[in-house]
Amino acid sequence: MNTSVAVLLEHKGSVVFSVPHDITVAAAVKVMNSHKVGATLVMDGGRLVGIFTERDVLSRVVAAGLDPATTPMERVMTRNPITVASTTTIEDVMALFTAKRFRHLPVMDDGRLVGLISIGDILRRMVETHRHEAEQLKQYIAGGYPP
Ligand code: AMP
Repeated sequence: MNTSVAVLLEHKGSVVFSVPHDITVAAAVKVMNSHKVGATLVMDGGRLVGIFTERDVLSRVVAAGLDPATTPMERVMTRNPITVASTTTIEDVMALFTAKRFRHLPVMDDGRLVGLISIGDILRRMVETHRHEAEQLKQYIAGGYPP
């Protein structure tokens, strides 16, 4: 798991779904649903100012009894999200997910947003890696020992 986030982004692509900071929760949820994603970054112009995830919908909107149609994103987003550089290893990303108890990390290089990594992306990568290793082991065993 010494692979870098950059390798993950090569496969996943660098498309990041984002919303402007001054929209309502209902509008942001519409964007998240239409792209089938559990999180959106919140931008002020080109600047990353927050992150809003399905967890926030539950805890800061529904549980708080707020009306999504009138609640501004800025009231319920997490400000100044933690980010990683694309050189960060998958191992370090997993450690952050575990320590901070969140499942999304925006990727920034030199102040520029270059992608978003979710715990789902990490899981997919681990499954692929394990499948590949298992396949190699099977071939090795099937090949038998040299005489
Ligand atoms: P998640 O598990 O990613 O749905 O997020 C759980 C909580 O952490 C929510 O309040 C999110 O807004 C917040 N959160 C998610 N990602 C980050 C991040 N990279 N930095 C700071 N907070 C985050």
